[in-house]
Amino acid sequence: MTVGAPVIGVLALQGDFREHRAALAELGAPTALVRTPAELASVDALVIPGGESTAMSTLAVRLGMIEPLCEAVAAGLPMYGSCAGMILMAAEVLDGRPDQQSLAALDIVVRRNAFGRQVDSFEADLDIAGVVGEPMRAVFIRAPWVESVGPEVEVLGRVSTGPAAGRIVAVRQGDRLATSFHPELTGDLRVHELFVNLVRERS
Ligand code: GLN
Repeated sequence: MTVGAPVIGVLALQGDFREHRAALAELGAPTALVRTPAELASVDALVIPGGESTAMSTLAVRLGMIEPLCEAVAAGLPMYGSCAGMILMAAEVLDGRPDQQSLAALDIVVRRNAFGRQVDSFEADLDIAGVVGEPMRAVFIRAPWVESVGPEVEVLGRVSTGPAAGRIVAVRQGDRLATSFHPELTGDLRVHELFVNLVRERS
């Protein structure tokens, strides 16, 4: 923990951590890249980026980060995960690689690469609870969806049209958020702002 403004760590094992860091910096939040247990111990919150959840899991195991991450989850560290980050935060992963690890930071079951081939990557306008103003333009890239949620989890957003209409793509549980899509890639800072505000209110 730190004195002053809370520092938001960005897990920097793999994926688009630079884009998350830039979005947080634009909001004026102090940030730090996290690759080691010591770096993890020095932050007040953690963002897990989009990328490839199996690669992130493999690197986390190799670098001795799984246990520290699980301890951080148990200690209540606020977290936000986008896409692969959502998969890493899940309690259960469907269609994952058998050895892939997840942190159970959220009481959700996610289905990896859920949207299927035709719509591997697509964009949609979404209303997200807690995000004020016009709908968000959401970018999905081989994205997961949330198959089911536990009683403590609030559904913040669902796909509204097309074959996947009704599927859950944004959730919150206490100080933790996850989205199937990538707000770090569109310049729309409202999901990051929601997270930064959660972290600031908590500290
Ligand atoms: N399909 C990826 C995975 O399984 C997630 C894709 C993404 O983060 N854009 O981790």
